[in-house]
Amino acid sequence: MRYFIGNWKMFGIPSSFKILDKINQYYLKDKKSNKKYKIVMAPPLTLLQDFSKRFKNKKILISAQNSYHQDNYGAHTGFVSPFMIRKLGVSYIIIGHSESRASGETEEIIKNKVSLALKNNFNVILCIGENQKQKRKKMTLKTLKKQISNSIMKKYNFRKIIIAYEPIWSIGTGKVPSHQELKKNALAIKKFIKQKYRLKFNPKLLYGGSVDKTTVGIFRSINELDGFLIGGASKSSKNFIDIIKNFYT
Ligand code: PEP
Repeated sequence: MRYFIGNWKMFGIPSSFKILDKINQYYLKDKKSNKKYKIVMAPPLTLLQDFSKRFKNKKILISAQNSYHQDNYGAHTGFVSPFMIRKLGVSYIIIGHSESRASGETEEIIKNKVSLALKNNFNVILCIGENQKQKRKKMTLKTLKKQISNSIMKKYNFRKIIIAYEPIWSIGTGKVPSHQELKKNALAIKKFIKQKYRLKFNPKLLYGGSVDKTTVGIFRSINELDGFLIGGASKSSKNFIDIIKNFYT
């Protein structure tokens, strides 16, 4: 099963459900959809309740983009907990996105977020990725391993965790890793997780960073990838559908 997960970031108003409607219609018409892939969309917090109701019995699953790292309720002005989001019928949550890390989210906070989200029965999409400097210094794998080890404990149910490998230098820049580089990193991430957490199955791994209808073609043949986390191109139904079409052609 492959995943096409859209991250709208700070985009969308109530009428933007029309974008998802079009994607949903495509999914319903596409004969391979049910067996081959899932679509998950992460609109901003303001749209979660409306979208999760609208798409409840449809084919698009709804994800939150973040959540608070402790408590169900508390004196935390401006924040919402996974407990509160789960009550909206939302079942996926993105944690540790590089944009959240850049605005002060530490690995300790991310660890707590993962833990609390799993306790609330979410599917966690955990983002990891190296920056330009770490890549230049050949510290990519070291960085990724540290990010994984510092956020995931042994006892976690890996069937509820999806790792999204998103090189920071690739997010929103139009730059993507070469086929060879991404395949190497994807293999290394999966191997590391399988060994470290003694898994009998392969963990799920997505790639994210400037995925569009053209770049997706470069990655089509990387079997280690279980799908894509798509930022900019998920804001247009046409661009998002073209990614899926081009992946399967
Ligand atoms: C993202 O924000 O997770 C992302 C991958 O963005 P983009 O596709 O725009 O690079």
